[in-house]
Amino acid sequence: MSSDLGGDFCVVCGADPPLYGERMCEPCVRKRVKLVKVPENVPWVRCARCGIVEIQGKWVHISEEEIWDELIQRHVVVHEQASEVGLAFETRRVSDRHTLIYIQVEGVIEGLLFKEEHTMRARMANGVCLTCTRRAGNYFEATVQLRSTGRRLIEEEFTALRATLDTVIDELADDPMFFITSEGAVTGGYDVVLGSKGLARTWGRHLVSNYGGHLAESNSTVGRKDGIDVTRLTLLYRKPGYDLGDVLRWRDKFWRPATWSKDGAIMSRIDRQERTGATWRDLESANVIAQMKDHIVADIITEDSSVGEFLDPTTWSMAEVRLPWDHVAKEKLRLARIDGEWLALHKLGCDDDDEGKAV
Ligand SMILES: [Zn+2]
Ligand SMILES: [Zn+2]
Repeated sequence: MSSDLGGDFCVVCGADPPLYGERMCEPCVRKRVKLVKVPENVPWVRCARCGIVEIQGKWVHISEEEIWDELIQRHVVVHEQASEVGLAFETRRVSDRHTLIYIQVEGVIEGLLFKEEHTMRARMANGVCLTCTRRAGNYFEATVQLRSTGRRLIEEEFTALRATLDTVIDELADDPMFFITSEGAVTGGYDVVLGSKGLARTWGRHLVSNYGGHLAESNSTVGRKDGIDVTRLTLLYRKPGYDLGDVLRWRDKFWRPATWSKDGAIMSRIDRQERTGATWRDLESANVIAQMKDHIVADIITEDSSVGEFLDPTTWSMAEVRLPWDHVAKEKLRLARIDGEWLALHKLGCDDDDEGKAV
């Protein structure tokens, strides 16, 4: 003991200054103070079916690197008085379930620089996430039925419609209920059974805004749980099977959709000058008779006030057709074949972009 009476000394070992913190010399401080506390083993849970990871009760898609970051942030406790803390780590996988995390950390406490190295073992446990639990139980909340009006869609058209669901799921935030329970072709359409009503509605809106058409929603009660009705949603989406300019049989007459409107189409009648607005629902009874791609455009050989003659490309002989109400002498005719007869069509704006099959 070399300290003078009344002079400062280490309260633990009596050493002379400099003293730090609670009046201890540097060796005594270093013996008692640790920069970080690191548990030996830390658990984490991965879904054995789909691989997503549980973080504080939430299932999330994260990379391994992010898992280690997360475990360090959650389990490594830094001394509350530490400043200028820097941390680096490396990992080594020792088995399927065990990964060692080597942590190097430095920081300043009471003016003393601390450098420490620790090893933490991350132990993975298998779990089953909510999505996989529900999927395994064939859980579903909603069915989306893809159908068409006007004509039956071909398989490729249904495939294209179905593909938009993947886009919608990708664009939405991670939600464990955004999954497909089952799906498949049915007579006249395609059905997709989904884990979430919200996903079904979002997809439905996406279909309407991208392809037009009509969405009908119905709910059925399937039981009660905790005093609340459990309902399931059915969304029937009808995509119009026609395009502008196609010939439709509608209300016993032939019409052509001239332009799209907010909730349907402006229909233009073929046998006389008449236009009318029709909603998607109105048009559910329409049938496509001749798509634009099946029209032909023919030169007139001779014409009088009501009838024109042209070369019929199906027989290579002359044929007659009643001229359309807006006919201008000598102009070409746009023709559709309907029930074995030719029908001359009046002009629409969309005809300019489509030459038809010229003959
Ligand atoms: Zn001491
Ligand atoms: Zn899972």
